[in-house]
Amino acid sequence: MRVELLSVGTELLLGQIVDTNAAYLAGKLSELGISVYHKTTVGDNAERLAAALRISLGRSDVVLATGGLGPTEDDITAAAVAEVMEVGLVKDEATAERIRSFARFRGVKLLDSLLKQALVPRGAQVIPNPVGTAPGFIISRESKTVITLPGVPTEMRAMAEQSVFPYLADRVEEGAASVIVSRLLRIAGMGESQAEAEISDLIRQQTNPTIAPLAKTHEVFLRVTARAPNRAAAEQMIAPVEAEIRERLGGHVYGADDESLEAVVGDMLSDAGLTLAVAESCTGGLIGHRITNVPGSSDYFVASVTAYSNDTKTRLLGVAEDTLRQYGAVSAATAAAMAEGVRTALGADIGLAVTGIAGPGGGTPEKPVGLVYLGLADDSETTTEELRLRGDRPMIKERAAQMALYLLYRALRARRPQEVLG
Ligand code: ATP
Ligand code: MG
Repeated sequence: MRVELLSVGTELLLGQIVDTNAAYLAGKLSELGISVYHKTTVGDNAERLAAALRISLGRSDVVLATGGLGPTEDDITAAAVAEVMEVGLVKDEATAERIRSFARFRGVKLLDSLLKQALVPRGAQVIPNPVGTAPGFIISRESKTVITLPGVPTEMRAMAEQSVFPYLADRVEEGAASVIVSRLLRIAGMGESQAEAEISDLIRQQTNPTIAPLAKTHEVFLRVTARAPNRAAAEQMIAPVEAEIRERLGGHVYGADDESLEAVVGDMLSDAGLTLAVAESCTGGLIGHRITNVPGSSDYFVASVTAYSNDTKTRLLGVAEDTLRQYGAVSAATAAAMAEGVRTALGADIGLAVTGIAGPGGGTPEKPVGLVYLGLADDSETTTEELRLRGDRPMIKERAAQMALYLLYRALRARRPQEVLG
């Protein structure tokens, strides 16, 4: 089955916004094993939109369009689709009622333009919008289908996940000989080439599943992709390859798919019933930000203190002035004292600390930009780690935060009896 994407909006052509909708949809469609050969962007112009729809329907089975479903004058997608499918527009009563109650709830005047959003091409199946007012729809004529979704990314995603992907997945299963399934293995504490070297023979031998490394700013992903007649068969092909990669990379594989390191670490803290306090210098609160992105982090996260100046390190964390004078703010001794200090000051089970030189200035031959020390203190010991990170200032901050979370991950793993026994 061929699906193509059509992004509607003059603002996209003016470069005022980036077409993240198409990028998101293209990624998801490839995961569903759907071939996407074309992606078109067209402005809010009735003639050109209709022409683009005709061209797309001429070469693909399904056109997935986003944008132009709203209440304003320039929102013309429904009308253009109706014209191309040679049907009229009809009011969808359920949607009209939703819009009326929305207007009542918000205390806004029920404008005709709002109700216009309830107009869909005759014969279309309405895709409900759980987070906004404009619905999407699916309409087929002969073997060709047009699917429309609103342009607002949050609405588009919610509706795509709830309605469009399941619809397309069903059609793929019915029609096609195979599906493509991917599993993303997430790796920390190891560069792309290092990870690749550990599994180079697997990568060389690969045909199905395939293994592809992907380098991000602060982590590496390995994507294992299998093609099989159905999802279950593909997953069965991926499982042994995943097991082999995990075996070779050991604890470096901290999670899979959309499990972030902060979420994995959060689960481990939660399971162990431990609390965490963080002392951040060069990461400027980034670790606290990432940890608090995880819902439920209040169960285990006590605080993140951004102790940037030496004075704060002493006053809030109790780092001895002597330590700072003798070893400097960027040193293993200071990282250890920060970790111990934040743990004691806030009464947490674990104290985690980062101090380093993010650059671009401030480096010396002995202490270059990218030199970072991590500290981790618990009830029995304090460990430190020296890192030499590369990159510009934001990259060093991100990488330092990642490595700090990875140090915490390893410490928590080591506490688990079953993991120790292998
Ligand atoms: P609304 O009900 O908000 O009017 P709509 O379906 O009419 O939704 P548009 O008016 O085309 O959608 O776009 C609404 C907003 O959604 C745009 O201002 C833009 O911020 C965002 N948007 C639209 N298309 C895209 C896209 N392809 N990628 C990313 N963002 C987009
Ligand atoms: Mg609009």
